[in-house]
Amino acid sequence: MIKKIEHIGIAVKNINESNELFKKLFGKEHYKVEVVESEGVSTSFFMLGETKIELLEATNEKSAIAKFIEKKGEGIHHIAYEVDNIDTEMERLKGEGFELINMQPKDGADNKRICFLHPKSTNGILVELCEEKK
Ligand code: ZN
Repeated sequence: MIKKIEHIGIAVKNINESNELFKKLFGKEHYKVEVVESEGVSTSFFMLGETKIELLEATNEKSAIAKFIEKKGEGIHHIAYEVDNIDTEMERLKGEGFELINMQPKDGADNKRICFLHPKSTNGILVELCEEKK
């Protein structure tokens, strides 16, 4: 079951500058920074009520974030939905005809198991499913 929007991921060129910008916007500091080496990203998180904003900066040129910024510029990169059971949801969505980018859940930032759905099967929006690791 999809429970809520867990976070919105925003691709940025310079995470330190963007942390300052979003700090001014939200009137509060980010609560964590995390490098996900396997994804080639450096992330920071802001908590807004029940939802988080995740800023993502590429740590190398091959990173999906580097490619995204090259093609589209900075902006909303993905919307992440929290699910109670990612394996069940992946099966369900596959059955509904959605294209999964990851065939197995993988480790994401912020203590999550994650999986992405291809934007071409979701009206152009990259969708992340995430399940809190127990
Ligand atoms: Zn994310």
